Amino acid sequence: MSDVFTRRKFLQAGLTALAGTGLLKTRAAWAAAEHFGGVPLPMRKPRAPRLLMIDAGHGGRDPGAIGRTGTYEKHVTLDIVRRMANILAGKPGVIVRLTRDEDIFLPLEERVRIGREAHADMFLSVHADSAPDHSARGLSVYTLSAKASDDFAQKLANSENDADLTGGLNLPPADKEVTSILMDLAARRTHNTAQHARADFVKMVGRDWHLLDNPMRSANFVVLRAPDVPSMLVETGFLSNLHDEHILDQPREREKIARLMADNLARILDSSLFG
Ligand SMILES: [Zn+2]
Repeated sequence: MSDVFTRRKFLQAGLTALAGTGLLKTRAAWAAAEHFGGVPLPMRKPRAPRLLMIDAGHGGRDPGAIGRTGTYEKHVTLDIVRRMANILAGKPGVIVRLTRDEDIFLPLEERVRIGREAHADMFLSVHADSAPDHSARGLSVYTLSAKASDDFAQKLANSENDADLTGGLNLPPADKEVTSILMDLAARRTHNTAQHARADFVKMVGRDWHLLDNPMRSANFVVLRAPDVPSMLVETGFLSNLHDEHILDQPREREKIARLMADNLARILDSSLFG
C-alpha cells in the first residue's frame, strides 16, 4: 500500500517538474499526468474558438426563389441564419459572423471576400431554392466543383451566379485562369476539408431532417470559390415544393433546422477535421 503511494507521489512530482519546464507537451504526456490525478499542472492551453461565417443567400433586390404560395427565399435564409447565430452564441468553441444581418443586396464575390478577410474557418451559405421538378424536396449540400454533379446542379449554380446580375451591379468578369490555378494549387486542401465536412454534415443533419435523394452535390457556385476557406452551400429545401415551402414558412421548423445545422457545425468545427 505504502509502496504504491510512494510510487504515485514520485510520478506526480516528476510530472509536475516536467510541466514546469514546459516539456509536457504531447497529448500522451498530458493523459498520463491526468491519470495520476491531483498534479498541480498548469492549465492546458485552450483551443482558439473556430470562426464560422454564415451567409444568408440573396437579399435586398434579389429575392432568390419565390415559393408557390409566395414565400421569399431571402426572408427564409435571413431568419434561419439569425437563429443559427443565436444558438451558437451560447457555445464557447465557435464564433459566428454573418455576411448580412439585414435585407440587403450583397454581390456574391463580396460574400466570399467577407469570409476570407475574417479568416473564417468555415463558410456556409444558406439557401432554399426551387427546382423545375416540383416533387423534388429535402436538404442537400454543395461544395465547389468546376464540373457540376448533374444538369440540375449546373443550372442551379448558373441561376445563383446570376444573382449579381439580378442586383444590377456591374462586376468585373472573373479571371477564369486565375480561378482555375487557385483551385488547382492552393485550394486542394481547402476543398478536401469542405468535402469531408459536407459528408459529416449531411449524415448528422439527415438523422432529423428530410434529405434530397442525392444530398451530396457539387457545382461551380461563385460563393464557394474562396481558395482558403472550406465552403459549403446548403439548400435547406425547395420552395418549388409545396411541402418544403410549408415547412420553411413556419418559425418552429426554421428554428429546428437552424438548431440542427448549428449544433452539427459546431461539432464538425470541433472535430479533428479542423485540427
Ligand atoms: Zn438561393
